[in-house]
Amino acid sequence: MAATPAISADVLAKYEPVIGLEVHVQLLTASKIFCSCSTRFGDPPNTNVCPVCLGLPGALPVLNRKAVEFAVLASMALNCRVDETSIFARKNYFYPDLPKGYQISQYDKPLAEHGFIEIPHNGGVKKIGITRLHLEEDAGKSLHEGFPDASEKTAIDLNRTGVPLAEIVSEPDMRSPDEAYEYLTRLKEIILYTGVSDCNMEEGSLRCDANISVRPRGQKEFGTKTEVKNVNSFRFIRAALEYEIERHIGVVESGGRIMQETRLYNANEGKTYGMRSKEQAHDYRYFPEPDLLPLVVDEKWQAEIRVTLPELPEARRHRMMNDYGITAGDAQALTRTRSFADQFESAAQAARNPKRVANLVQSELLGRLKARGLEIEQSPITMAGVAASADLVESGAISGKMLKDLYDLSFERGKDFPVVYEEEGRPEQSRDTSALEKMADEIIAANPKQVEQYRAGKKTMIGFFVGQVMKASKGQANPQLVNEVVTKKLEG
Ligand code: ADP
Ligand code: ZN
Ligand code: MG
Repeated sequence: MAATPAISADVLAKYEPVIGLEVHVQLLTASKIFCSCSTRFGDPPNTNVCPVCLGLPGALPVLNRKAVEFAVLASMALNCRVDETSIFARKNYFYPDLPKGYQISQYDKPLAEHGFIEIPHNGGVKKIGITRLHLEEDAGKSLHEGFPDASEKTAIDLNRTGVPLAEIVSEPDMRSPDEAYEYLTRLKEIILYTGVSDCNMEEGSLRCDANISVRPRGQKEFGTKTEVKNVNSFRFIRAALEYEIERHIGVVESGGRIMQETRLYNANEGKTYGMRSKEQAHDYRYFPEPDLLPLVVDEKWQAEIRVTLPELPEARRHRMMNDYGITAGDAQALTRTRSFADQFESAAQAARNPKRVANLVQSELLGRLKARGLEIEQSPITMAGVAASADLVESGAISGKMLKDLYDLSFERGKDFPVVYEEEGRPEQSRDTSALEKMADEIIAANPKQVEQYRAGKKTMIGFFVGQVMKASKGQANPQLVNEVVTKKLEG
């Protein structure tokens, strides 16, 4: 990160950062928000355009119902109150990639308000307020490179013009770059679970503007903020905020004043640069969009959308910890994506013993992945493979030690468990009991008191004997087989 002005830790500690984030997510509709043009990414420039999204005179917008439903679903997932009536407004400004000269957005009556996201904080959770979620259309894209006379001209691609966006504005509730990072991670995870956006930052379907100010600790009023725009990864946003915090403190400490402005982050240098002083809100001359009726999402429609809300990551983690007896950390890994959690749960539920599947994921799979720096989606062993291996252990066909060896082979060969199990000729643990019988005899001879208790009717003592034989076999024996052998001896 570097490149930040050197300020001593003592001085930094005198100030408290205040951060609020504005996140745009592109809604995954097939067509644009006010016309039927395709939203497909990567098509040749200016092929997905029509009189409406080009802003030609006389063309009228027609609201895409699916975009509304997606935005409502996202609002609900973010704990927002959806307002029955919201109003579209024109936000006027001049920019080459905005053919109409205004963007249709929502202003004083947004779709949804008063939400929150919970982030982990000091062993508990902290609520970060969400001020509002509103619907708007995207602008086009200015291209500065990749075409013949790029050194003299800027080209405009209007395919993106009119693609539906949900803008999610947070309260200034975050107090460190780490909290901002955590908020973004949670937000993305929640939106991905709802399926309303793919949140792909490289393709611009999730974009974040970070607002930052500092104030002396203990002061109530906020300091003057700057806004860092167009940062294309969560890590860079954290780094840009770290840089800005030190810059602000440096300015204030040397008796200067922070100018309210928009800044750009240069990831190569790890620095931000002033871009333009922030327009005041009234410069946009917002006014109600005369070509669109107020948007009404009544109770009935809201209820229809609410039933499509999936179980959200945080709730799912808690339920899975209960259902499968797994730790918070493992629940986190297993719920990284909705599809992965679904795969895990359907495999676990199809297995003889779902908890054993969870245990194997925890004890045998995650560790091996971590050691190789792999994400769970890159595992050679699928969830179905883990479930198959769990069933083999459950039935006593293979031992725990054999399972470990087969898992190692899976990773070496990059093949799923059932494939390797076949390749190895369906190995089975020995059912030769002679060695076990010898161990059992010795243990029975060495523990007359426990034998007496067992024969007097304390049948639970069987666990003691099985445990001793397992120990003598260094965990190699098949517990079920041991149980059979020991029972026969004690009863006989
Ligand atoms: P603007 O009128 O400049 O757009 P808003 O009040 O609409 O400002 O807030 C935009 C974003 O900036 C919100 O996410 C909000 O939480 C955040 N914000 C507002 N004031 C501050 C501040 N003093 N420091 C940091 N963030 C702030
Ligand atoms: Zn169009
Ligand atoms: Mg604002």
